[in-house]
Amino acid sequence: MAPKKSKPKSGNTQADVPFPLLDFKASDDAWYGVRLVLYNNTLVVKYLDFPEEFDDWFNAWDFKSLEEVESFKGRFRPTSLQLQDHECTKVIEEMCVCASHPYGDNEMRFYDAVIEEKISKAHNYSKGEEECLCTFVVLWLHGPNSGQKKSIGIEDICLIPNGDTLHPTLDSFVKISKEKLEEGAHSEVHFSTIKSKSSRSGGKPPYNYSQEAGNSKLSGCETQTFKGRISNYQERIIEDMDLGGKSSLTNDIAKTNGYYSILIENLEKDLLSSTVVDFIYRQTSILAQAFIFPSLSSELYTRGIIIVDNQEKLGKIYDFLCDPAQMVMSSRGRPWIVTEGRHGNSRSTFGASMPKTEMHGL
Ligand SMILES: [Zn+2]
Repeated sequence: MAPKKSKPKSGNTQADVPFPLLDFKASDDAWYGVRLVLYNNTLVVKYLDFPEEFDDWFNAWDFKSLEEVESFKGRFRPTSLQLQDHECTKVIEEMCVCASHPYGDNEMRFYDAVIEEKISKAHNYSKGEEECLCTFVVLWLHGPNSGQKKSIGIEDICLIPNGDTLHPTLDSFVKISKEKLEEGAHSEVHFSTIKSKSSRSGGKPPYNYSQEAGNSKLSGCETQTFKGRISNYQERIIEDMDLGGKSSLTNDIAKTNGYYSILIENLEKDLLSSTVVDFIYRQTSILAQAFIFPSLSSELYTRGIIIVDNQEKLGKIYDFLCDPAQMVMSSRGRPWIVTEGRHGNSRSTFGASMPKTEMHGL
């Protein structure tokens, strides 16, 4: 008899791989066998037997609460293993199983179902192999046929293993996600939008990336590149700072035309530069550098500088920070202020009192 028990969603058993295989409940509500890869803060869910373009990417910053993290973790479980004919007696009524359902011409999708009725029949034995001829009536618990019943054979049934989902990669990602939440609770930045007709869809004046850096106007927001002209205040701060191994870099910033920077004021004093770097990267896909300057104890806020290596990146970050349809603010409601280069002649990019809707929290 042909090996009909090759489980379509998973080509391996748990014993074949160093880490236990996991099933993942994907966005289509079906379970898939997956393996996991962790890149820094990003978890890549790779579907077994599917090409790379089907990979799902999840970032540790994506979660807004511990409940969301736990809910995400709950979408994984130890892989369910296809029932073999001789294991027929393991299936009993009212038991929850993972069952296959045809999808398209040649594919199967897997959903949880309850065994409503088991119609036992004598097994067939030929050439030394046992064949289960029983029929199982299942009630689908989710998926496109949720609430409906169907009669299936043992080849459509997988047993759901008991026990916790213990997987080192998943556990690491969950741990990082919880740390990000913790970190965000202390130095959080919110990206908010203002509900007005002057939204993104209204279009923004194009930024002329070829224009010389300086105090030119950009989308109603003063540009500031400090291209070799860092303000006296910043020079003083940078000179005063003990930056250790980074001192040569900051000298470059101050003295070399190859770097472009944006000064941000009104930052929370406990904001981390890594939070700024992550935030800018997630919003603009630009990997910048950031420094948060020390502040006097009498000051209620601090300043920071975002640094990139070319003017185009600077323009994109500026477009984001100065988009009139949105605002960047701390979790305590402190809006970021992009300042003009000299003499503290600054303006808030957005009024703190403007109506806003939270879009994304860090
Ligand atoms: Zn049977």
